[in-house]
Amino acid sequence: MVSEKPAVQSKHVCVIGAGPSGLVAARELRKEGHSVVVLEQSHDIGGQWLYEPNVEGEDPLGRNPFLKVHSSMYESLRLLSAREIMGFTDFPFLVKKERDMRRFPGHREVLLYLQDFTEWFGLRELIRFNTRVEYVGMVDYGEFGKDLRWVVKSKEIFTKGDDENDEKMGEEVFDAVVVATGHYSHPKMPSIKGMGTWKRKQFHSHIYRVPEPFRNEVVVVVGNSFSGQDISMELAEVAREVHLSAKSLDITEGLSKVLDKRHNLYLRPQIDSLEEDGTVLFVDGSSAVADTILYCTGYSYAFPFLDTKGIVAVDDDRVGPLYEHTFPPSLAPSLSFVGIPRKIIGFPFFESQAKWIAQLLSGKRMLPPLKEMMQSIKDFYNSIDAAGLPKHNTHDIGNFEYCERYGDNVEFPHLEQWRKELCVSTILNMLVNLETFRDSWDEGDEKLLQEAFQSPHFTQLGSQVLTFQSQFERR
Ligand SMILES: Cc1cc2nc3c(=O)[nH]c(=O)nc-3n(C[C@H](O)[C@H](O)[C@H](O)COP(=O)(O)OP(=O)(O)OC[C@H]3O[C@@H](n4cnc5c(N)ncnc54)[C@H](O)[C@@H]3O)c2cc1C
Repeated sequence: MVSEKPAVQSKHVCVIGAGPSGLVAARELRKEGHSVVVLEQSHDIGGQWLYEPNVEGEDPLGRNPFLKVHSSMYESLRLLSAREIMGFTDFPFLVKKERDMRRFPGHREVLLYLQDFTEWFGLRELIRFNTRVEYVGMVDYGEFGKDLRWVVKSKEIFTKGDDENDEKMGEEVFDAVVVATGHYSHPKMPSIKGMGTWKRKQFHSHIYRVPEPFRNEVVVVVGNSFSGQDISMELAEVAREVHLSAKSLDITEGLSKVLDKRHNLYLRPQIDSLEEDGTVLFVDGSSAVADTILYCTGYSYAFPFLDTKGIVAVDDDRVGPLYEHTFPPSLAPSLSFVGIPRKIIGFPFFESQAKWIAQLLSGKRMLPPLKEMMQSIKDFYNSIDAAGLPKHNTHDIGNFEYCERYGDNVEFPHLEQWRKELCVSTILNMLVNLETFRDSWDEGDEKLLQEAFQSPHFTQLGSQVLTFQSQFERR
């Protein structure tokens, strides 16, 4: 007898990574009845939010395919996005006593939130820590009619004490693999004349932690996005001079105010060349003799463990072909990626991806036919070309409507209006008040916060929300 609905199947699924994406993927997969193993190379959950102060041994320019350090967080880092917009839909990012109670807390507070999420939903038992995935490849690749399966080879590292480690190789076959390895770890380096022969210090912000080692130095910071600005401001407190080299000198009001205030912080155009005597020449003819060059030039997508026989490739920061930034059509839904999109409200979006993957694997939902998915990717790439956008912006979403349409695939609730408005107002505040946006905001935000705290997202966990509200009222 043919049933109208396809049978719900349980799959053996490997999730790679226990950062926010991997954790929510594990939760949704298990909820859907799959057997889940999460392989995580670090000793704890958290991904980027698991701050690693020791960066010894990491290549300063990130040239190794497998990095020693995953997190790119620096010690002073505070959130760019307000905590109340970040939470997973049924687990609000509440303020807790004895913790960092700020709206824009430091990085540790996110780790604690993720630890709470992990304990609340009992996810720890699914995770094998200190286990780095080194190879993922297809079993019986090309054998017609066989279901796709994946062999996952990993290295488990045991500490024997006295700084000695032991390693054990593991190999296991899975029905599906969810890649949730993040994309803020592998440095993206510019190509600058003289870089190869520069004898002074140069490194990527991936291993920047604290400003103290740069006391009294002349530092050139390359790159004027969030990290470049944030790090320049803190370096200017201790360094003799900080030269912030930007692609465009058309800067925000916020940065302009900072430059007016700090007389040892200079805005420079792009670097023309690095000279052997330590001179950094900028394209406008100005120069500085620098002790250190710090590249805040962003990160690249990299999956050094993944062998898809060339089906999935990274080309100028385009991971493709991916249907809806998630599924390589010819390998879907057996292989999927969570967390590829940028410029989104991350955690709830990862949650919607995880739900979709889980329900596709169980057979509760179906993807469109292969041809249709490939056409959709082609149309999307054409739209990027037509808009004159570079390939490396492929995964920059910056669009609430897209997130809502994406969620509709799996009946995921649309983002609440207050979430969207608070997200936008933070960005606008940051553009004007770069130094203070995390600690002061206007009445409009206060009203939206009130609305947020009274919404089901915050009231769903009952009494815990009082802590949040009382803190808000005290300010
Ligand atoms: C400086 C900085 C500031 C940021 N600020 C914000 C912010 O304010 N708000 C915001 O929402 N986001 C911010 N982010 C983005 C942040 O990366 C995301 O919030 C989130 O951490 C992405 O989650 P993820 O799980 O996709 O990736 P990650 O957090 O990177 O986690 C990936 C996990 O995969 C593991 N892994 C990788 N490779 C392997 C392997 N081969 N084998 C086993 N395990 C592996 C890693 O160890 C890690 O635990 C910031 C990022 C940086 C670098």
